Amino acid sequence: MDFTKRIDEMKDQIIQSTQEIISIKSVKDKPKENMPFGQGINDCLEHTINLCENLGFETKNVDHYAAHAEFGHGEEVVGILAHLDVVPEGDNWTYPPYAAEIHDDKIYGRGTIDDKGPAIATLYAMKALKDSGVKLNKKIRIIFGTDEESGWEGINYYLQHEKAPDLAFTPDADFPAIHGEKGILIFDFVKNFKSTPENTGIKILKINGGNRPNMVPDYCEVHLLSDEDLKQKVTTYGKENNIKLEVVQQEKITIIKSFGVSAHGSLPHAGQNAISQLIVFLNTLDLADGDISDFIKVYTDKISMDYYGESIGCGLTDEESGKLVFNVGVINLNEEKVNLSINIRYPITCTDTQVYDGMNKELKGTGIGIVEIEHKNPIYLPKDHELVQKLMKVYRDFTGDHSEAITIGGGTYARAMENAVAFGPLFPDQPELAHQKDEYISIDDLIKITKIYANALYELAK
Ligand SMILES: [Zn+2]
Repeated sequence: MDFTKRIDEMKDQIIQSTQEIISIKSVKDKPKENMPFGQGINDCLEHTINLCENLGFETKNVDHYAAHAEFGHGEEVVGILAHLDVVPEGDNWTYPPYAAEIHDDKIYGRGTIDDKGPAIATLYAMKALKDSGVKLNKKIRIIFGTDEESGWEGINYYLQHEKAPDLAFTPDADFPAIHGEKGILIFDFVKNFKSTPENTGIKILKINGGNRPNMVPDYCEVHLLSDEDLKQKVTTYGKENNIKLEVVQQEKITIIKSFGVSAHGSLPHAGQNAISQLIVFLNTLDLADGDISDFIKVYTDKISMDYYGESIGCGLTDEESGKLVFNVGVINLNEEKVNLSINIRYPITCTDTQVYDGMNKELKGTGIGIVEIEHKNPIYLPKDHELVQKLMKVYRDFTGDHSEAITIGGGTYARAMENAVAFGPLFPDQPELAHQKDEYISIDDLIKITKIYANALYELAK
């Protein structure tokens, strides 16, 4: 039987399985017994294992940190690395984020494109190959990670306890094949405020905004004490600069709310940073002199709305992967201290030391220190690597698009093991919806990627 035809036959099942998995809110939560990432993720993991068993695959739950499902024989294993966790849904969805409603032939919901839809697509690609009875010489195994959006504890635990596949792809980025990924740094800028601000001028009490370093924040607010009514200033500034700011007066305290547009931290230009635009505005006010106003000034000078780290000494770039990308994700500022969480994607041929050295130079004398939190090295496979070549051939034959393999700033599970690359699910002309409101996958694309993945698995495992 032709496995592509088998996918057409299973269309309704593929849609239904996608809807079911989207309806489980698998955002990382407080750990419980046998649920290292909380109830939601564990429910999703167990649901997926059941689905795999119903589809006729052998499964293994690796101590609730991850799971796999497999079929076939052979010494070698072709792997698929997918993840079941999602980032928080954020605000302002047109349709409910966990209802998986279908509108205009699109399934809406958190995780539809990142990464539950593609997880279901690859799973049914396996099912189609299995049902078709084509001869394969390798095992095919899908691995479900559970903590991709934060610490990768799930996949790392898995790879410490299970042998890694011999080669793998992860359906968690873009088409065509991705042969390189930038280095990723997460760190905090911290400063303790020692001086009390002068009595004249506007006094900042606190600033809070953002959820995650790897997301462009869509909301930030400042609480301040001001003798002056700021309404007119805020409205005029917002209009002139085309940004959304709002003022609320709560007795003596003035609250200014800043609304941006969230996006993936690797694509800050696709969003609008609610923290940065608010800080830049604050710098135009007559602030009380002191450590806090100094910090606001440094932020405006060195970060502002710059996505490429150029003003803060790390504007690195290379031919293979382009510019370094800089995203401020979270701010927590009070009268004692500030903590600013930042996510950088640096070019493939550069190093983390270059990035930190550049920033340290610019921050000298500002009282701002850097606390390093996470580092993922860049990865790179040459374009003529067997894995890249085979995936590119499948993609080109299927789509007729003859573009070259690409590099990205996103960090995928491809970094978790040797011989892995990211492959799909987003096509080159499609908008990036991961980590944004109104995330969706069109039903046509869901079926199309299932077919591409089935062809890819066949090429890799035959
Ligand atoms: Zn993802």
